[in-house]
Amino acid sequence: MNLQSYVCGAWHGGGEPGVAMRDASTGDVIAHASSAGVDFAAVLQHAREVGGPALRALSFHERAAVLKSLAKRLSELKEEFYTLSYRTGATKSDSLIDIDGGIGTMFVFASKGSRELPNARVYVDGDVEGLSRGGSFVGQHVYVSREGAALHINAFNFPVWGMLEKLAPALLAGMPAIVKPATATAYLTEAVVRRIIESKILPQGALQLICGSLGNLFDHLNCQDIVSFTGSARTAASLRVHESIIRHAVPFIAETDSLNSSILAPDSLPGTQEFDLFIKEVVREMTVKAGQKCTAIRKALVPAAVADDVVGALQAALQSIVVGDPRADGVRMGPLVSQEQRSDVLARVAELRREAELIAGSLHHFEVSGADAERGAFVPPLLLLSRSPATARAIHEVEAFGPVATVMPYRDARDAIALARRSGGSLAASVFCADDVLAAQIVLGLAPYHGRIVVVNGACAKESTGHGSPLAPLIHGGPGRAGGGEELGGIRGVLRYMQRSAVQGSPDTITATAGRWVRGSRIRDPGRHPFRIPFGDLELGDTLKSGEREVTALDIERFAALSGDKFYAHMSEHEAARNSLFGGRVAHGYFLISAAAGLFVDPDYGPVLGNYGIDTLRFVKPVKPGDKIKVRLTCMAKSLRAEKGWGEVAWDTEITNQHEETVASYTVLTMVSIHAVPDMQGSL
Ligand code: NAP
Repeated sequence: MNLQSYVCGAWHGGGEPGVAMRDASTGDVIAHASSAGVDFAAVLQHAREVGGPALRALSFHERAAVLKSLAKRLSELKEEFYTLSYRTGATKSDSLIDIDGGIGTMFVFASKGSRELPNARVYVDGDVEGLSRGGSFVGQHVYVSREGAALHINAFNFPVWGMLEKLAPALLAGMPAIVKPATATAYLTEAVVRRIIESKILPQGALQLICGSLGNLFDHLNCQDIVSFTGSARTAASLRVHESIIRHAVPFIAETDSLNSSILAPDSLPGTQEFDLFIKEVVREMTVKAGQKCTAIRKALVPAAVADDVVGALQAALQSIVVGDPRADGVRMGPLVSQEQRSDVLARVAELRREAELIAGSLHHFEVSGADAERGAFVPPLLLLSRSPATARAIHEVEAFGPVATVMPYRDARDAIALARRSGGSLAASVFCADDVLAAQIVLGLAPYHGRIVVVNGACAKESTGHGSPLAPLIHGGPGRAGGGEELGGIRGVLRYMQRSAVQGSPDTITATAGRWVRGSRIRDPGRHPFRIPFGDLELGDTLKSGEREVTALDIERFAALSGDKFYAHMSEHEAARNSLFGGRVAHGYFLISAAAGLFVDPDYGPVLGNYGIDTLRFVKPVKPGDKIKVRLTCMAKSLRAEKGWGEVAWDTEITNQHEETVASYTVLTMVSIHAVPDMQGSL
């Protein structure tokens, strides 16, 4: 049976017998994959002309809601996916990382999208840049959705997480995706895609799936498309120089192989908590997914003085790992994904053994539980030791993508850093160290060569996610050999699928384009207090100009007494106040913003429901007793929370003195009801 691809709105069964996919433990054929007969130009066109416009018609919040529904739906179907996942060689806990981890990532993007992005289609990047003396010419960076397709080429090891971690940010950015899973485990990805399509939660064209090869798809890429690749450095190197990628400057994000280090710090001696945590983590990283993890620890760097203790502890811990069919009871580590992968790993181990001795695990004699060792792609955990890592080469360069790690003794922290950097750029590193100053020194030495670094010690071990897990809010990727790409990283990951454009023009043009009022733009008197205007009727630029208030010495005395803030510069009796850098006694900044609220607030109930914060507060000029202040409050940005019945409104706020000089500047954040008289029963 051929797996089907989902293209141009229909399932397409590969026309000719394709590549066989086998159960990793039994060797039984599961299905074949072939994309013969797929019209790849039409696939791209479908994404660009059907999926893209449908997604771009939605706001960030609406796309986030789609992701949330999808994640909820997939959560209901997990059992079906676990069953298939066993066939890839994954144990139940491996599947939790792949399946639950993938769905969890989608939930995180849904939540970040609705909390950190506006309910809009344009993302405003940073502040407006003043470009002229008179203020009539300014610049603003904005991000808009790219109008092409996101091509996602994934590795075999995480058939679910690998797809969802790329899909979530692309969809949130408004880009349709074409997913190409690695053939070895494409049957699991196909099952998930089938359920996604059946759910009808995604708009037509937002997701297509290619099982089998990508044919001539690369020939049809254009400047609006983007490629995100996970896999080997060799494949990445050949794809990133494809003529279309170069000619159209198609962004090519690559996550490739990497040799990742874990460092046991010089102070983490046997008997310390950090020593024990390190041993546990190396064993975990070698055995989770049978070591088929791009972030897995390949290099265990340990102080030379305790190398024998480390080796002894690792040997003992690895002995208890039961290898076998993940469906069998008690199995801690499954097989590799395929016989091809097994041959590849064994060939790489042979290279490593020219420089390092095998100190745990036998290539020929090991027990396999619940399966035939010959038919399944089993390899036991293999630990090597290199006594002279500084002069070796292969241990820093050859990745055996299986349960394989090499112990490398180092002299001092500087030597450990140098050894970790020998791999020419890695995805992840970990440091087991209780001394924060030493840890910081090691982290900063590793950082130019590593995309992510985790420091583990007694203070965080209980809650730490450990060495290997890429996390949705943090970037995943690394320099050099690791591919030079970045994925995830929360909203950073979304923006990678969008185009940034620097828009220059008058403040009014910028306000209209960015959907956010900028200073210098027209202001408007709405004819009533802006706090009396429901969300939908408020317009950007609607402004209140308050009356004046004189700030007196008594105000300052009373505020000091009420708040307890008797900082010298506010206190009359204080000698230092007279000689302060403010040139005399000044009002509390916090009094000014309180007094300003007194000037601009309309006290009646609704539509403004509450104030949830202040952003970008700056006290620009001191205010002295006798000065007169007034406030300008302008509707700067709006973001509707339709499901809640209110929207967030940000007010640009400026307090000025009697000389029209700005004394304080900030943004007031409020929740404004969509109703003139909101329901009093409604809770926030
Ligand atoms: P791979 O052979 O490079 O394949 C990766 C993906 O590229 C697969 O989907 C593969 O499809 C596809 N592909 C291969 N040749 C292609 C071509 N000419 N045109 C278009 N697509 C092509 O890597 P793999 O064996 O699946 O994965 C193992 C490697 O990936 C390891 O080295 C590991 O370190 C690395 N990896 C890195 C990360 C990371 O996040 N950095 C994660 C996982 C794995 P087919 O399967 O159909 O050939």
